[in-house]
Amino acid sequence: MYHSKRLPLKGDGGAVAILALQGAFAEHEQMLQRLGAETTLIRNLDDWNKALPQRGSGEGAIIPGGESTAMMRIMKDEGLFEPIREAILGGLPVLGTCAGLIMLDRNHLGVMDILAKRNAYGRQLGSFNTEENFRGIGKFPMTFIRAPYIEEAGPDVEILATVEGKAVAARQKNMLVTAFHPELTADTRIHELFLSMVAESRHDGFPKSDRSRQL
Ligand code: GLN
Repeated sequence: MYHSKRLPLKGDGGAVAILALQGAFAEHEQMLQRLGAETTLIRNLDDWNKALPQRGSGEGAIIPGGESTAMMRIMKDEGLFEPIREAILGGLPVLGTCAGLIMLDRNHLGVMDILAKRNAYGRQLGSFNTEENFRGIGKFPMTFIRAPYIEEAGPDVEILATVEGKAVAARQKNMLVTAFHPELTADTRIHELFLSMVAESRHDGFPKSDRSRQL
């Protein structure tokens, strides 16, 4: 699915920046390292500025699960909100899982044309596992923890998976989101899909129109 030769690898300038303000970032790091990708944790603006020095050389970002209200507050306090928003709008490939999905929606970073419904499964079904079809991948094990679903999606958003009629995974250009936690299962295929998006952006280069603004 992805080409290991085009992965962000140690020493060749590219890396996947994992937002590590709070929440389930370590599991994403472990999964990407298992797949052979270079990763870097982002705790503040300095980390961010060091992490993505060479735009267009196979970089990406992950916004993990956690608590979107807390993550939002820390992101703003650390001065990360605008730089991350700008980079994503400029084409940086990004994977958002659970709270990460919420962070990308219209009411938070405002980069993806979706509206997330938070804590959408009620108290009884707050956390559960299921297995459903993921477009382009097939049956995928899905772990939901006080998860959102996608309540509204604009015309540019491709819905990739649904559970009980609710959209739980989607892609819009450089943005891939899941309401569930692929990093908490042994199945690496969603991370591989994300790395293929990183590899593609490395191949094509990004951002296109925004390059001068980004540098
Ligand atoms: N309930 C959390 C929120 O609304 C998301 C939960 C998760 O990321 N596992 O931000």
